[in-house]
Amino acid sequence: MNKIGLSSYTEPMLSQLMAQLGQPAFRARQIFRWLHEKRAVSFAEMTDQPKALLAELERRFFIETLEVRRRQQSRDGTVKYLLRLPDANCIETVWMRYSYGNTVCVSTQVGCRMGCRFCASTQGGRVRNLTAGEIAGEIYAAARDQGERVSHIVLMGIGEPLDNFDNVMDFLSIISSPDGANIGMRNISLSTCGLVPMIEKLAERRLGLTLSVSLHAPTNELRSAMMPVNDAYPVERLIRACRAYRETTGRRVSFEYSMVNGVNDSPETARRLARLLAGMDAHVNLIPINPVDGSPYSASDAANIRRFQTMLTQLGVNATVRRRLGADISAACGQLRRDDAGPAAAETPERPRGEFSQNA
Ligand code: SAH
Repeated sequence: MNKIGLSSYTEPMLSQLMAQLGQPAFRARQIFRWLHEKRAVSFAEMTDQPKALLAELERRFFIETLEVRRRQQSRDGTVKYLLRLPDANCIETVWMRYSYGNTVCVSTQVGCRMGCRFCASTQGGRVRNLTAGEIAGEIYAAARDQGERVSHIVLMGIGEPLDNFDNVMDFLSIISSPDGANIGMRNISLSTCGLVPMIEKLAERRLGLTLSVSLHAPTNELRSAMMPVNDAYPVERLIRACRAYRETTGRRVSFEYSMVNGVNDSPETARRLARLLAGMDAHVNLIPINPVDGSPYSASDAANIRRFQTMLTQLGVNATVRRRLGADISAACGQLRRDDAGPAAAETPERPRGEFSQNA
């Protein structure tokens, strides 16, 4: 029998399981706390639980723990981890220090099938989705290694979180629980390349997290050239969904805009972007693109980025330039995993890169 990852169970799921096993209801909360507050890595540690229950859990379940395989330390305190999953696949997790606390950037899939032309994470396609317990395990592995608490989470690592919707929802339920890591939705940002139906579904959940949309260009011509997903969900549909998200949730939407030299950084493009986002109280994060092998793009220079920011601000759009952490370990997201030569896991991509746009 294949064992099931118990750390992927939300509290309601654990309650159901305990009922099925004929256990009193309070066991669900106790076990959840062992997994997500005390972060046990084996059932044997759960010393206040009945032996028979532990034996039954041991027989049917396992605890999803991640191991640090590689660690890259930046002078500014940023640490990039290559973490090994229970099936030997690897993903990346980043630890960042800010004045307000420690932020962990988590991956949500092994690889990605969105095909963005500037992104290293998508170059080998998607291998599989991460489970809720594995995503939580990224945070626990980083916190354990650093010996510190995590206050903020960004879902901006490898993978498209809304392409793994159900597991990501379970992860959010687990990580925000007061019986576990207790990280509030206000301290969580989820970044998407723009899967419109999933943005609509997320809005319905009214979670209170920050939705961050990777826009990168204000016109279909520019955006489709950078991101195949735009062929399925063009800019006007995407922005309509973002405006609706703001209406439904009352939360302002944040936009990521990676600046590419000579591609999306002209004054005319700034004006178009300002028109597109007019009146939606948006926040734009300008990021110099991180050049990756095999991509034709290079970063806009600092002066150009400042000029773009000033124009947006003058046109009434709130814009900031993202502080670059970990510049000296600047491997763009996905590069550490891609370049890892370690013990090969079953890495047959399910689908070729960019396939998404053709099938959607
Ligand atoms: N799939 C999600 C989240 C993961 S990517 C998304 O697309 O939003 C996190 C962010 O990094 C996205 O804004 C993505 O466009 C950006 N990104 C990816 N590769 C980059 C690169 N080489 N330089 C700058 N930003 C990059």
